[in-house]
Amino acid sequence: MRRFQTIAVCFIAAAMAAYCTGPAPDAEVEAPEADGPPPGTLRSGPAFEFNAITDDIYHATGTGTLSVGSNSVIIINEDDVMIVDSHITPAAAYVLSEELLEITDKPIRYVVDTHFHFDHAHGNQIFGPEVEIIGHEFTHAMLSDPQGIFESRTYAGFTGGVPGQVENLRAQVESAEDAEERAALEAQLQVQEQYMLALDATNPTPPTLSFTDTLTVFAGDREIRLIHHGRGHTGGDVMVFLPEERIIATGDFFLPGTPYMGDAYLDEWPDSLERLREIDFETVLPGHGPPFTDRARIDALQAYLGDLWSQIGDLREQGVSAEEAAERIDLTSHQDNYPNITSPGIDPRVTIRAYERMDEIAAGG
Ligand SMILES: [Zn+2]
Repeated sequence: MRRFQTIAVCFIAAAMAAYCTGPAPDAEVEAPEADGPPPGTLRSGPAFEFNAITDDIYHATGTGTLSVGSNSVIIINEDDVMIVDSHITPAAAYVLSEELLEITDKPIRYVVDTHFHFDHAHGNQIFGPEVEIIGHEFTHAMLSDPQGIFESRTYAGFTGGVPGQVENLRAQVESAEDAEERAALEAQLQVQEQYMLALDATNPTPPTLSFTDTLTVFAGDREIRLIHHGRGHTGGDVMVFLPEERIIATGDFFLPGTPYMGDAYLDEWPDSLERLREIDFETVLPGHGPPFTDRARIDALQAYLGDLWSQIGDLREQGVSAEEAAERIDLTSHQDNYPNITSPGIDPRVTIRAYERMDEIAAGG
């Protein structure tokens, strides 16, 4: 019905102005045409760097000319391609699929969502029915509720400030004193403007195939194991393990740095990480940051998460509010492992989420 109205409005507009440039202002955002780019793909140079891990496995990272959010992993099989994580917007996923042609002309057949977070999964919508989008059933449930996503502390918290940043950058460009400074600001402005357009065109899209514990894909002669080791960064973290190559893609479940914890199961995450020790991997391709091989990073993250959970528990027991607890948390003793921790205090979304989790546990969840 809505679509019919849009067409009708266009028809009337066309009769008056002899052209119709797009949907009426009140029309819903529709999926892009299969053969055209979605809004927000304009960029000054390549958006992705494809770092070869082997002949046919790549860690794709953003260059900064386009907002792409997370890293992705490209697995080129005998006849097709698997992409682990679809990036932050339909625009970012579309550009990935375009730039991918530099390294392969095989068709994309699988997309794996390591978890539901927008910076990893909001590119899903550009893929057609020939692509199987695979994720945990928790991820399926989350991405099936777009309104819930848009209103969530994570999505709203990370993207709500974008229009303001664009306004700010526009003002800075206006008042820039020299040409070099102005050019740098204009480049930043383009990235943020395109990001804003791309966010507006996003329809969270759930996986077409979901699972709970493990799922193995046999693609040509390659075995690809999708593994859920329990709740951690979210309720449905999936890792992608290639036993032959001893490579594992870990999403945000296991990162070289400190992860975002606003949707975390802090109480279960260290145990879920413990099970990672059973896997015979050599190289970790994380959802953020560079590849690494140091297995001791498991210990570092377990210690950090355990300390955080226990400090939050103590503060809550003392009757401290979640917001005040965020200011009082002190994780500076983990600075050797995480040099970014330079002072006490943590993102209040972490303590708010932890308090929520403690309520869930008290209620038997
Ligand atoms: Zn995440």
